[in-house]
Amino acid sequence: MNIFDGVKFNNSFAKLSEEFYTKQKWSSFEKAHLISFNKDLAKDLGLNPELKPEELVKIFNGEIEHQNSESLAMVYAGHQFGSWVPQLGDGRGILFGQIETPQGLRDLHIKGAGKTPYSRFADGRAVLRSTIREYLCGEAMHGLRIPSSRALLMFGSNELVFRETTETGAMLVRTAKTHIRFGHFEYLKHNDKKEYLVELLDHVLAEYFPDLVDRKDKYEIFFEQTVQSTAELIANWQAVGFAHGVMNTDNMSLLGETFDFGPFGFLESYDPNFICNHSDAGGRYAFNNQPAIGLWNCQALAAALDEIIAEEKLIEALKKYQHYFYEHLIDLYRKKLGLQEKLEGDAKLIESLLTWLQNSKKDYTNFFRNLHDIHEPKNIIFEDAEGKAWSKKFKERFGLEKLSTKKAQQKMLANNPKYILRNYLAHQAIRKAEQNNFSEIEVLMKLLSQPFNEHLEYEDYAKSSPDWGKSLEISCSS
Ligand code: AMP
Ligand code: MG
Repeated sequence: MNIFDGVKFNNSFAKLSEEFYTKQKWSSFEKAHLISFNKDLAKDLGLNPELKPEELVKIFNGEIEHQNSESLAMVYAGHQFGSWVPQLGDGRGILFGQIETPQGLRDLHIKGAGKTPYSRFADGRAVLRSTIREYLCGEAMHGLRIPSSRALLMFGSNELVFRETTETGAMLVRTAKTHIRFGHFEYLKHNDKKEYLVELLDHVLAEYFPDLVDRKDKYEIFFEQTVQSTAELIANWQAVGFAHGVMNTDNMSLLGETFDFGPFGFLESYDPNFICNHSDAGGRYAFNNQPAIGLWNCQALAAALDEIIAEEKLIEALKKYQHYFYEHLIDLYRKKLGLQEKLEGDAKLIESLLTWLQNSKKDYTNFFRNLHDIHEPKNIIFEDAEGKAWSKKFKERFGLEKLSTKKAQQKMLANNPKYILRNYLAHQAIRKAEQNNFSEIEVLMKLLSQPFNEHLEYEDYAKSSPDWGKSLEISCSS
């Protein structure tokens, strides 16, 4: 039985001009072993439920040829930490193929698959450590209802990979709506390949914006929708306290999915200046810079499209970024506060809570998780004068709601996660995996895929990190 039985491949990217990729196979590990298989995702993709993950390892390790795969490495460019890099590309990634799923077209992409023409001086591999982090975080984001790439499978090897120390290589098979990045368009525009811009745009519209294809203003609407999905994605990040770490334009999915996980981190206490990436000394991608960087990246995309879309239309769309961002962010915070009505003073109320939270240094996630207690007569959430004053303002605001306190509390629990991927949790799972014990990965997958639920036997996983875990240094090395 073929594991992709009943799955329709539609490798539409591979049908574009050769300018967009290099068709190639990838480099197998000599011996590959399964580390984890994401059954929930396999189900969502409509894959055969009888499939054997070991067989999947063989296919994605390139030991068994799969007839429907048209594997290729994509070429793109990007702005890395603000500097223009004229050519990047899948230096260690391979687009295995694209499949039709109940949710639409999905890419199957292998990360850590060996050298490609875009590897520059690097080895084309990914280390076990960063592979586990990406595997867990994709599922964590999905569990938090945030658009994200997700990983289907992860397998390891004995192949040595040299970073700061000697590590072993692993591969991750991930799905995403697309692997087309802002940097794809920048590559074409700034390398004198403008004739291909329209080809790529038309491909994107046909596959992902079919409703726009026949419209005269299709490109400008597409751009505005990209600005919107980017702004909303980043609002989602801010509301859960997620810092991406490397928001270069080559790591920005065109379809607004969280993508290319590296030195990401979740807030512990609420510190807007949080820098998760140890290599980001200047804090370009600090937590509170993410919204502005999202706009900066949209501007870079606009610059790539400025001969196709009229300048005033690009500017018009960019000007809406802030509106899209704040509207969505405030909506998310309303939900976190168990509020339903949209009222004038809400933004101020939220802002003053965040200021208080910053000063009080409480754990961001756990504070919101416990906030439903505010509706209990004897709560001890706010003990200082400012906190009590905020609580009073909140109660007045809540008085304008039609919701019962019970319903509001339920809403708060449904919108404030109990479990996030704290760095130290990933770190512990990695340490065990390095000893060939993958059990911790499975525990975390279970918690992170349902982060709003109670998991009574795993209360400890919801606690704020121990001190040693707060000072882990995560860098770009992967
Ligand atoms: P990243 O910072 O992971 O988004 O990677 C930036 C660029 O470097 C991308 O084009 C990657 O494909 C490439 N790259 C990163 N690590 C490696 C590696 N070990 N081997 C080859 N290319 C890499
Ligand atoms: Mg990348």
